[in-house]
Amino acid sequence: MSAWVVAGVTVLDGTGREPFDGEVLVAGDRIAAVTAGGRGPRPEGARVVDGGGGTLMPGLIEPHAHLSFADVLSSDMTQLPPEEHMLVTVRNARTMLDCGYTSAFSAAAAKPRLDVVLKREIDAGRVPGPRLLANGPEITVTGGLGDTNRLHLPHHATPTFCWVCDGPDEIRRACRTLAREGVDLLKLNVSGDQGTSSAPSEQTVMTDAEVAAAMEVARAWGLRVAAHCRSAESVLMALRHGVEVLYHANYADERALDALEAARDRVFVAPALGITQALSRAEGRWSVTAERARLFERELAASVETVGRMRKRGIRVLPGGDYGFAYTPHGGYARDLALFVDVLGFSPMETLVAATRHGGELMGKAGELGVVRPGALADLLLVAGDPLADVEILQDRGVLRMIMKDGALHKAP
Ligand SMILES: [Zn+2]
Repeated sequence: MSAWVVAGVTVLDGTGREPFDGEVLVAGDRIAAVTAGGRGPRPEGARVVDGGGGTLMPGLIEPHAHLSFADVLSSDMTQLPPEEHMLVTVRNARTMLDCGYTSAFSAAAAKPRLDVVLKREIDAGRVPGPRLLANGPEITVTGGLGDTNRLHLPHHATPTFCWVCDGPDEIRRACRTLAREGVDLLKLNVSGDQGTSSAPSEQTVMTDAEVAAAMEVARAWGLRVAAHCRSAESVLMALRHGVEVLYHANYADERALDALEAARDRVFVAPALGITQALSRAEGRWSVTAERARLFERELAASVETVGRMRKRGIRVLPGGDYGFAYTPHGGYARDLALFVDVLGFSPMETLVAATRHGGELMGKAGELGVVRPGALADLLLVAGDPLADVEILQDRGVLRMIMKDGALHKAP
């Protein structure tokens, strides 16, 4: 069993505790000891890393990952043949790990098997990437977010980018097919979205019967469910049926906030500010007109307002900004940490707890992932600098002196 001692570091343990000087012993894939203020156990044969006074913290966790999104517009996503698409996905996984993200909760794949196959390769150690919970394509309805069909074009023969289903039976078939193919998660587009030609954000496009059908399959197969919910009613609908992860939720009203608060021990909200902010500044590019840019500006303001109220109610709000589009290319994931501080007014500590400990809870490994404590999985970053003093440094891959996942070095110090 390999053993490492990372010494001479300030430990930022992810729990919210004030950082302390010390050292950490890793044995195999776990953290074996965390010692504050002096020298800790150093078993024979353990290799010692001099941390040089840097910060040792848990690996970052991306709650809204789209590893198979190819930095293109959603309308272009269907153009990629599967062979190229798989390679793009593998490259993105490496990029995410290079950025210090050691875990990813997928918010949808662009084809049914991309995440599933990637996860298998990562778990076998054959390609580098974050530990991954795999999703399938977003499940949507006619006119919903991601329905890129047009009457004058042939309908997509296979589910690509999003799977368009109408009625509980079609939803069940899509969910069961994805379950058969090995996904961990399902993604439902319950509300519309400003970002596409679909129904607007404030509109709820799925019906109770459709969401209930998806949840029925999810329960039978032990899958977890995330949902795109911008409208207040979509938040209520998702919660009513037991959806656990709510993306955006920016138009949540008083009733929806009450329901979120009542479910706060089992649900997570990820507003995905990155994409909205990028689009609000994209006038003149990617067919974003001045009028649409203003819509996104309003949507961003709504997110700020709503998240502020969620924070007061103790609802877990996680970063993750929908990276993988032309306007939010891969590699920029940590931009969302700065947005939490600069735009939402979270403290750097709250932001980093959201990106680590709460991320571990989202991954289904509370206390085992996203924290530096004995017994936890050894997913660790050694940062040259203090991310609490300036969270923006995490956007610079150069400050990541060491990236460890499962006790194995992805980037050696
Ligand atoms: Zn997304």
